[in-house]
Amino acid sequence: MSIIQDNIRHLKASLANTPCRLVAISKTKPTSDILEAYQAGQRMFGENKVQELTSKYEELPKDIEWHMVGHLQRNKVKYIAPFVHLIHSIDTLKLLKEVDKQAEKAGRTIDCLLQVHIAEESTKFGFGLEEIIPLVQSDEFQSLENIRVVGLMGMATFTEDDSQIKREFQSLHALFEQLKTLQLPQNVKMQELSMGMSGDYPLAMSCGSTLIRVGSSIFGERNYT
Ligand SMILES: *Cc1c(COP(=O)(O)O)cnc(C)c1O
Repeated sequence: MSIIQDNIRHLKASLANTPCRLVAISKTKPTSDILEAYQAGQRMFGENKVQELTSKYEELPKDIEWHMVGHLQRNKVKYIAPFVHLIHSIDTLKLLKEVDKQAEKAGRTIDCLLQVHIAEESTKFGFGLEEIIPLVQSDEFQSLENIRVVGLMGMATFTEDDSQIKREFQSLHALFEQLKTLQLPQNVKMQELSMGMSGDYPLAMSCGSTLIRVGSSIFGERNYT
């Protein structure tokens, strides 16, 4: 058995009997690595670049569910609209409107997560925690008929301080739970809470994550050269 398959089996075992599922983040990795994970039963994969997502979709088995997890430019939505399973990284209403438009063209409804900025770093994209409820209650949002917001996504600060990471995950979980208590429009269904990466997924799971996005702990360190 390969190291990749071993890592997938290990992660799947730790997710058994939990409500949480694994999105394997395969960015920068060759399709041969993805096929190894596929052979260990993994079907959900995530990428952060449109070009890479599209070419891997074309090359690989069609029962893979492709997730877009990286910052998405509006002019590139059209390339992934026909096949993307879930977009984790909706960070503006403008982007969501473009996804809605391209979903209509593709004749489908596209599931999305609203990315919320919970880290202290200023470089990470996303809505403020306090922006989400007014957004989903706005008329402009409610008029979007070709998208469905199925939950929230967040990234914690890159730090050794577990208590800070935990606070950040808890803030997103609290918003998720609060939203579930509200009367939500037709195009919102709060089901998924996407949080946790290689360094912090156990903590994210303890804070209610339903989707962990794990890359390097499966495929090894990324080489960006
Ligand atoms: C790369 C990436 C991940 C996976 O990161 P690892 O630390 O390698 O597990 C998760 N989420 C997003 C948005 C990413 O860009």
